[in-house]
Amino acid sequence: MRMDKLLSNMGYGTRKEVKKVMKSGGVHVNGQPVKEGKHHVDPEQDIVTVFGEVVKYKRYIYLLMNKPKGVISATEDAEHETVIDLLLHEDALFEPFPVGRLDKDTEGLLLLTNDGQFSHSLMSPKKHVTKTYRASIRGEVTETDIQLFREGVTLDDGYVTKPADLVILEKGVQSEIELTITEGKFHQVKRMFEAVGKKVTYLKRIKIADLALDPNLESGTYRELKKEEWDLLF
Ligand code: URA
Repeated sequence: MRMDKLLSNMGYGTRKEVKKVMKSGGVHVNGQPVKEGKHHVDPEQDIVTVFGEVVKYKRYIYLLMNKPKGVISATEDAEHETVIDLLLHEDALFEPFPVGRLDKDTEGLLLLTNDGQFSHSLMSPKKHVTKTYRASIRGEVTETDIQLFREGVTLDDGYVTKPADLVILEKGVQSEIELTITEGKFHQVKRMFEAVGKKVTYLKRIKIADLALDPNLESGTYRELKKEEWDLLF
């Protein structure tokens, strides 16, 4: 990897700023001064220092975001703001992507990473990772719906859903529920309620596996995933 890219990715400034520091003699690789930005290093093997401080290299980034409504779960979009637009420049440099998708009008727990293996482990249909949603539903959700969701409902395209766990929190013309599913079909929660003649009017993901959305993480903000949180996912 180029020295200027490495240092810039690790938060030592823009490429231009990094090059300046290098020219001044502030950067050493295995004890030798390196002044050219284009100099190549092996970030896993070489010891790089900036003004004597060892650069801690990390290849992967794992972020936990409280996605707000109105933002697209994609890396780019011609018209709309994406979850990547919400990241600080130094985090975006890792080129993370969202692990799965939440609809534009869905909010809540979204993981972002540049680690394809991590993403695959959570998204693969074979892994049956649970995802829990909190939703407001137009229409009265009943015990019959709990039973139907447990057995599997037929979506508009004929697909029969895997057993899902529906919990009614409040019943009425507008009901409040929690739903845990093990799949991630397109618009799945909305289409499951459509299948029983009801409409989702608000949707928030609150959990992936045993990892719950941090209540202190304000909508539109994110932070790095902690080690102990990682263990809750697998
Ligand atoms: N199900 C939906 O319908 N939408 C989402 O964003 C997530 C699950």
